[in-house]
Amino acid sequence: MKLLVIASLSAAVVAHDVHLNARQSGSSSTATAPSSASRSGTSSVSGTGAATSAATSAAAATPSGLTTLTFTPASTNPTAFPLESITANQSSMPTIPLASTPAAGETPPVSLAPPLPDAAAIAPASYPSMDTRPPLNSPEMDQWRQEVQNSGVPIPSISPTVAGGCPTNPQAVADNSRCWWTCSGCTRDTDISDCPDKLTWGLTYDDGPSFYTPNLLNYLDEQKLSATFFVVGSRGVQFPHTLQEEYMKGHQIAVHTWSHPALTTLSNDEIIAELGWTKKIIKDVTGVTPNMMRPPFGDIDDRVRNISIAMGKSGLTPVMWSRMDALHTFDTDDFDVHGGLTTSQQVMNNWNAIMGNASSRDSGFIVLEHDLFEETVELATGYILPDALARNPPLKIEPVIQCLNKPMSDAYIETNDNSTNPPAASGVVTLSSGAPGSVQATGEATNGNGAMGLSSPSLLMVASALAFLAVSQL
Ligand SMILES: [Zn+2]
Repeated sequence: MKLLVIASLSAAVVAHDVHLNARQSGSSSTATAPSSASRSGTSSVSGTGAATSAATSAAAATPSGLTTLTFTPASTNPTAFPLESITANQSSMPTIPLASTPAAGETPPVSLAPPLPDAAAIAPASYPSMDTRPPLNSPEMDQWRQEVQNSGVPIPSISPTVAGGCPTNPQAVADNSRCWWTCSGCTRDTDISDCPDKLTWGLTYDDGPSFYTPNLLNYLDEQKLSATFFVVGSRGVQFPHTLQEEYMKGHQIAVHTWSHPALTTLSNDEIIAELGWTKKIIKDVTGVTPNMMRPPFGDIDDRVRNISIAMGKSGLTPVMWSRMDALHTFDTDDFDVHGGLTTSQQVMNNWNAIMGNASSRDSGFIVLEHDLFEETVELATGYILPDALARNPPLKIEPVIQCLNKPMSDAYIETNDNSTNPPAASGVVTLSSGAPGSVQATGEATNGNGAMGLSSPSLLMVASALAFLAVSQL
């Protein structure tokens, strides 16, 4: 058992590095590739140094995961690419233009929303460089830093983690007080991880907009579905018209950082900059400011959590994905098809397992998917959504704000009247000391893997290794 855990842990370290680097490199390389570029798997993963070598060699090996389906989908899209052809090495599918291009001044489908801004007026030079950490010395940063200070939300003086996730941060993993979701599934009352009503699916897509988002938007439109898009700020600068189309079609827009870092590795100011610039580009493009965020990789602890909640009026409420325990998370792992780290068949098997878990719980659920890559969009429109729509008993599929039984207007600062969606900071429990470093700066912690009672460091290490394997390989 001990050997098994150690072996699993080292495998997890490698998988994690590859996973993180593939995600980060993939994000920026895709962002700068022309739409007609050949999508040839590992060759499109740019970067330097050992991390790229690791990603390349791992991706060149046989992808982990099954190559056969272990279930029969309730339905598939007749125009879908064959499942076995959705791989890192397939030739590119055509990108399609947006079904419509909203005009400046149009009225958004959200009550009280201001007229739509002019997307053509978005000047990239007015924003930080795409896919890099925003600078910390700017008038905007001075304002956001002050807002965090003025919020009254205590920011715990938790040390940033080092790159590598759970395996490279054993002390942080053993420190239950920081409520590090990544390694323990720990959440606070202020987090959203589920939809309350059984068989209700909070539909979310991360990392876009991208070249392939219009394909997804078309399908959602055809099926009369709405989703929550966790937007990377850099992609908002690159694809402002797509971001406007998402918003104008009634989808919820939320924050997913500027350059997609693991937030627990950053300083307080770096976190503020990542969130602040993403809020700003979304406001500049749509006219409204989101009040929800999702941390890249689900990487959140009490420091990141409270900085998010302290980000200006209403703050940013963290939205995770559902998790029953370390081995049963609601992550399709669709992202890893592009890097060759898993197969489309395995993603669908993951999806079927998610459906099984969804049917066994009393609450609804939120699933992790992405609109960044061709493969993720093909799987969503060709297989996952058609299967979901044909399931019986039927699923109720909604954006996160609506699965919480709140109107879309509650999702933005300018349109939220606070009657049904008070600022996130109102849910934060400030301890009497209120001192920085307070270990319980927010409300009651709940531990998604039921490991609250584990106090032995060795047990925690085992739990974290398992948790990490789940995050890396599911
Ligand atoms: Zn992401």
